[in-house]
Amino acid sequence: MNLRIPGPTPCPEEVLLAGAHQMMNHRGPEFAQVLRRVTDGLNWMFGSSSDVLSITTSGTGGLETAVVNTLSPGDKVLSVSIGSFGDRLRNIAKTYGAEIVPYTLEWGEAAKPAEVARLLDENPGVKAVLVTHNETSTGVTNPLEAIAKEVRARDRLIVVDAVSSMSSVPCPVERWDLDVVVSGSQKGWMVPPGLAFVYMSERAWAANAEAKMPRFYFDAAKTRDSLAKLQNPWTPAMSIYFALDKAFELMRAEGLESIFTRHEAIASYTRERVKSWGLSLVPVEEQYASNTVTAVWWPEGIDGKALSKRAREEFGVVLGGGQGKLEGKICRVGHLGWVNKQDVSDALDIVEKLLGEAKPTA
Ligand SMILES: *Cc1c(COP(=O)(O)O)cnc(C)c1O
Repeated sequence: MNLRIPGPTPCPEEVLLAGAHQMMNHRGPEFAQVLRRVTDGLNWMFGSSSDVLSITTSGTGGLETAVVNTLSPGDKVLSVSIGSFGDRLRNIAKTYGAEIVPYTLEWGEAAKPAEVARLLDENPGVKAVLVTHNETSTGVTNPLEAIAKEVRARDRLIVVDAVSSMSSVPCPVERWDLDVVVSGSQKGWMVPPGLAFVYMSERAWAANAEAKMPRFYFDAAKTRDSLAKLQNPWTPAMSIYFALDKAFELMRAEGLESIFTRHEAIASYTRERVKSWGLSLVPVEEQYASNTVTAVWWPEGIDGKALSKRAREEFGVVLGGGQGKLEGKICRVGHLGWVNKQDVSDALDIVEKLLGEAKPTA
């Protein structure tokens, strides 16, 4: 099976085998060592000098953690949404009683830092900006560093969904001066689903002390205090920690720069290949096209769903479809985590063949 959806992503066999480790006392010294090593790995990847939290939940649970630990009901937030995950982050904040100032773009577009600046100037009461780094539904990566500069210059908090970017493309949390940054294990980390990672800056911890949104399981202070004793407050998904411990060995051996350039090269290959067939990318401006997932419009008159079904059933190639209003209209090819150019070119060979067969001959 060539699994080319943008998460869950394939895992190296040695990582899966590491995950099959026998259970141990999750509050004992042996697991404490695993948690220490994994946290060191997270700090390394996030570019953080304080400990990144890991929580047993999916990426969405990480986003909920970010929101409820920094805000109070009635707080004004600027929600930057360029697709379905941006909408999700906004809806979490709304659910917990935040007042939303929306900055919503057409799907395929990237957010404009100058517009974020303008909206913040126009809304001095906005406490935090919610933004998706890499919008997995449209294959667009926001210019996060530039957005963060505008937010920082106006002294607001910036809460970032980096679920499908962190570990695959650069997102150095301290260098870019971000406040809350969330990722999820099944995207670029070469491990199965089950853990979310949450970085919080000192400013975010100060906000946490005042934040009144209700929280229990996702109380970041509980996780931080347990982590100081090298424990989790609740029973963690230990198997994913075992797997991630091994995955960090592989990531450190490859090195950050090589990981980033590998993703960049595979993404650029993917874009060139689909463009050479005459297809259009979903990202309106290619400079913002994602290096972890390529989203492309199916050509007019092609039944994308039927084509994907054939790719899966006849050739074992599993493609991502469109979410929400893009369902049936676009194809998404995931190229993040444990991926090489051959995996992607094999999948694209099949898509090319099926497109050729589906096209009426001229
Ligand atoms: C996958 C994803 C999520 C949600 O993750 P779940 O693990 O499915 O809860 C959130 N944001 C982005 C950008 C994602 O790609």
